[in-house]
Amino acid sequence: MICAEAIVSRLREQGERLTIQRRAVIETLCASGDHLTVQDLQTQLAAQGTALTETTVYRIVQWLKDRGAVAQTDLGQSGVVYQVIDRTLHHHLVCLRCGRVVDVEDCVMDALRERLRREYAFEPRIDHMAIFGLCRDCRAGHD
Ligand SMILES: [Zn+2]
Ligand SMILES: [Zn+2]
Repeated sequence: MICAEAIVSRLREQGERLTIQRRAVIETLCASGDHLTVQDLQTQLAAQGTALTETTVYRIVQWLKDRGAVAQTDLGQSGVVYQVIDRTLHHHLVCLRCGRVVDVEDCVMDALRERLRREYAFEPRIDHMAIFGLCRDCRAGHD
């Protein structure tokens, strides 16, 4: 898992200004190592004594997303989650019927990345993707 210091120093190298609030959000996301909604982040920050409004937390995660440090993913029923982008990427299959979320390893995206580069001259940033559909159980009997 990537540590907060690595992200902070990378952003500094890019000439970004690291306020106390931005640092607190980065540290909370890293410490959790999990998918957090803006509300989750706000709650955890408040518990550590950093009281930020939902709007402020939202602006900071968008700022981190624009700089490639954080992935934003809509998991459907589970909401929009944010996660630090580390070296071992993963993705999710989200069932539209029962809401089940299954993890998928990153290598399944390699063929897609390659085609997008070759045929569209597009460099995709597939860092944490949710693919919606029907899970095995929900498909049974509906085919
Ligand atoms: Zn995930
Ligand atoms: Zn299902």
